[in-house]
Amino acid sequence: MSDLTGRNALVTGAASGIGAACARALAARGARVTVADIDTAGAEAVAAELGGTAWTVDLLDVTALEDLTLDTDILVNNAGVQHISPIQDFAPQRFRHLLMLMVEAPFLLVRAALPHMYGQGWGRIVNISSVHGLRASPFKAAYVTAKHGLEGLSKVTALEGGPHGVTSNCVNPGYVRTPLVDKQIADQAEAHGIPEQDVLDKILLTESAIKRLVEPDEVAALVSWLASPEAGMVTGAAYTMDGGWSAR
Ligand code: NAD
Repeated sequence: MSDLTGRNALVTGAASGIGAACARALAARGARVTVADIDTAGAEAVAAELGGTAWTVDLLDVTALEDLTLDTDILVNNAGVQHISPIQDFAPQRFRHLLMLMVEAPFLLVRAALPHMYGQGWGRIVNISSVHGLRASPFKAAYVTAKHGLEGLSKVTALEGGPHGVTSNCVNPGYVRTPLVDKQIADQAEAHGIPEQDVLDKILLTESAIKRLVEPDEVAALVSWLASPEAGMVTGAAYTMDGGWSAR
């Protein structure tokens, strides 16, 4: 696969999980990576490992992102959190926060990056959505709504960016082995009073054809291909990586 030497990449939520794996995969191809995260120590550790730059940013502080300009060639909107609750108990502020983090902040970062990308006639935007960007699950109102919103943003960006050499795509993982899912497994084990392995075998993976979690590196390999010159005709697309979960 092709070289990304000389390209600037910005990955949000890159101190951990899928974002850190994406940062590593892009750096391995030669990109200069900015590791953006609210977790300063985590971002600095990943940046130091890759010879990249750490950017401490709270993506919920959306007004601070309104005047931003970015000289990034590759933008990976990855930061995200999960919250599980029935709608009637869902705290409105929590709902708003998930939409700010997973829809409004990506919109503002895209908005900040497009002038540079348009100026050089090349850019790659990859949005880390989820199978929940395409299908719903109960008790995940904000997450499902936000990821569906991110899909819409990604497609509009593809349509506007296409004539300027900018592609925009979503990646839709199933359950990936990261701290976010570890917490979900622990919470469900406690809620149902069952061992964590049973949460995997009897709840999370029952509809999966390949009975294991996705690895962050597998998602990162797809992201770095979408960021490459070879994927220049791939835009407005959603790439599911869920071990067959949504084929059922
Ligand atoms: P993770 O918890 O390992 O990492 C998320 C990162 O986002 C953390 O480093 C965290 O500090 C950062 N972050 C959270 N709030 C932030 C804020 N306000 N400002 C800046 N950074 C912030 O999670 P992950 O599993 O790697 O998830 C990454 C993305 O992948 C998310 O968008 C998630 O929805 C998506 N996703 C995850 C899975 C999965 O199973 N893990 C599946 C599908 C999609």
